[in-house]
Amino acid sequence: LVHWPFRGSPKRKVSWVQLAGHKGNFKSAQEGTILKKLSENERQCFEKLQQDVLLPFVPQYHGVVESDGQSFLHLSDLLVPFHQPCVMDCKMGIRTYLEDDLARARGRPRLREDLYKKMVEVDSGGPTAQEHAQHAVTKPRYMQWRETLSSTHTLGYRIEGVKKSDGTCRTDFKRTRSQQDIIQVFQDFVVGSVDIMQAYLCRLTEIQQALHKSQFFKQHEVIGSSLLFLHDLSGRAEVWMIDFGKTTALAEGELLHNVPWQEGNREDGYLWVCRTSSAP
Ligand code: ATP
Ligand code: MG
Ligand code: MG
Repeated sequence: LVHWPFRGSPKRKVSWVQLAGHKGNFKSAQEGTILKKLSENERQCFEKLQQDVLLPFVPQYHGVVESDGQSFLHLSDLLVPFHQPCVMDCKMGIRTYLEDDLARARGRPRLREDLYKKMVEVDSGGPTAQEHAQHAVTKPRYMQWRETLSSTHTLGYRIEGVKKSDGTCRTDFKRTRSQQDIIQVFQDFVVGSVDIMQAYLCRLTEIQQALHKSQFFKQHEVIGSSLLFLHDLSGRAEVWMIDFGKTTALAEGELLHNVPWQEGNREDGYLWVCRTSSAP
């Protein structure tokens, strides 16, 4: 989690907040913009999004810039219109790794003691009897287990982080899984304001409609992308699509985004609807 004073006009001090990702990945830039470390994949997504119906829902893209010998994507800072904003990052989809990542991990089916340790730290009941005996797990096994801890696997999204207007932040949602717990986090986030909730719902409906029309969305496996929720006391509330670092074009065919993932179908569950009201 990174905060830094934003170099802007002296009248308006904006405190930047980053709820996910490596802190070295971002830099402040001229007023109203930020720099995110370049990934070629994300650059290609932003280029394509310029001609897509999703354009009004992604940060403005100002191209690639160099700073201190490194390349960055130059993006609008979504926090700027807000005064002491509340921010929430929801990572979308029923899985957060690429099929290619899994295949790559399988290619090296080494037994990993470090991943076993990480697993046990979170849940001593995580490893199977055999994994306990060998004190190790494979990477693909670890990747798949990790997704079942949060709501990713069951609800099709998980909360990555929340910042409230008083400046307090929480990023400890890795094991927040039940619908009930998620609803609680959302209610705390909007402090029970029906107006804010309605504004969010309205914006989410617009995004959903645009997603159904979007060529970009049909032709991409959208993995690890987030919806960024922002509101402040003025009642302004916005939702933006961010983070296309792992959003990958399909060579052929189209995705539905609301059907189960089976390895090979590349479905991401971005539009997953949890239909089991009796789920734990
Ligand atoms: P990860 O892949 O681990 O999620 P990342 O390095 O790809 O991280 P992002 O997810 O794009 O980074 O962004 C991390 C955080 O930075 C977001 O949760 C959000 O708080 C903030 N952020 C990102 N882009 C913007 C933006 N354009 N305006 C304002 N805040 C942003
Ligand atoms: Mg992210
Ligand atoms: Mg990312």
